[in-house]
Amino acid sequence: MLGVFAEQSRVYAIPMRTRFRGITVREGLLLRGDAGWGEFCPFHDYSDAEAVPWLASAREAAEHGWPEPVRDRVPVNATIPVVDPRRAGEIAAASGCATAKVKVADPGADLADDVDRVAAVRDALGPGGKVRVDANGAWDVDTAVRAIRDLDKAANGLEYVEQPCRTIEELAAVRRRVDVPIAADESIRRAEDPMRVAVAGAADIAVLKVAPLGGVRRALAVAEACGLPCVVSSALETSVGLAAGVALAAALPELDYACGLATLSLLTSDAVSRPLRAIDGWIPVLREAPAPDTLREADDDTRDLWLSRLGRVSALVRRF
Ligand SMILES: [Mg+2]
Repeated sequence: MLGVFAEQSRVYAIPMRTRFRGITVREGLLLRGDAGWGEFCPFHDYSDAEAVPWLASAREAAEHGWPEPVRDRVPVNATIPVVDPRRAGEIAAASGCATAKVKVADPGADLADDVDRVAAVRDALGPGGKVRVDANGAWDVDTAVRAIRDLDKAANGLEYVEQPCRTIEELAAVRRRVDVPIAADESIRRAEDPMRVAVAGAADIAVLKVAPLGGVRRALAVAEACGLPCVVSSALETSVGLAAGVALAAALPELDYACGLATLSLLTSDAVSRPLRAIDGWIPVLREAPAPDTLREADDDTRDLWLSRLGRVSALVRRF
């Protein structure tokens, strides 16, 4: 099984347009099965054990494909990295999206910069747009409460704040003290039991990512178990992996929020000649992942590294 995957796999290394999540080059491996292509791209700080669901997700796409969609297009948000306010406004305006997610609480950045960035994005979207922020768990409870109040004011009403603090208990504490809805992202992925997030009163919204949850079917089960409205986000994949996120968003019974799947703009190139880009804030639903045809292949060392990672993680998959 692994032999076939290794032979048919392609390893990519694509520079990022802006540093994001601490990385400047996105790497991963595309593998092919009977149903099409899948993308295996756990970040380098993930252990082999943590990478197991990523491989399960890639294999689901390659070997089985995805459940039937219930909609033919998915609303998406613009993603605004840590850039100056002028640039933030330009990105939001150029995106064509009615919703923007602004990255805040970056290490070393201060709240005043976040406030200015959020205000610029509100200006760019106009009063009808929606502005949400993502702190990636960076704040403690008191800092979060203060920051959320300031950012809510700057946004003239935030749609929600994503993962303001690290733990479920902290999220619940913040949620009791602010009116802005709380979305759980990292807490859902790391939870042994995603329902705990809802039961603990920690969140109003669940952010789901296909790869770390182990595929579209497993993510649908998590959505059902947690019982919260869901937002589907990418893990900065090429269009091959993004198609799995779109498949999840397309298969969710309810979809009330724009999804974080318009992330191709963070990469300088893609694996396919017809990228899964948003048009006027919507991405069309595909029946299967597109085949890579314009891939920027990684050098031999990077390829060896990913093939050996694939081998180690494959050996663990049987226990998943
Ligand atoms: Mg997030």
